[in-house]
Amino acid sequence: MDRAGRSGTKLVAQLVRKGATLLAEPCPQCGGVQIRYLGKVYCSGHQDLSPLLVVEGLSLDNVVAEVRQALLLKLNQDARLLEGEDDLSKQGQLVSLMADCFDLLQKLPGGRQRP
Ligand SMILES: [Zn+2]
Repeated sequence: MDRAGRSGTKLVAQLVRKGATLLAEPCPQCGGVQIRYLGKVYCSGHQDLSPLLVVEGLSLDNVVAEVRQALLLKLNQDARLLEGEDDLSKQGQLVSLMADCFDLLQKLPGGRQRP
């Protein structure tokens, strides 16, 4: 009967280890196991709990660092593409793409280059 909740069982166990509480009452919507985590009630049956595990241990700094790295990689790739690109309209696309990347880099907290 609780087919929906099965996939969440492992996640529930992991969350419980991280301090989540199993609730006695099953989910009123699907009968799945409910947990309370960080002050909120979640259902392992019909809600995806995996973001809860991901979010923990993430900080803005980590995310910013990752975004910055991704943008830099992208810029590097685009720069190489641009070098070898003869098509003017594609050059334009690449340049505006790179401009967007630069823009985003500037907007990241701490992303501004010090003069
Ligand atoms: Zn549910």
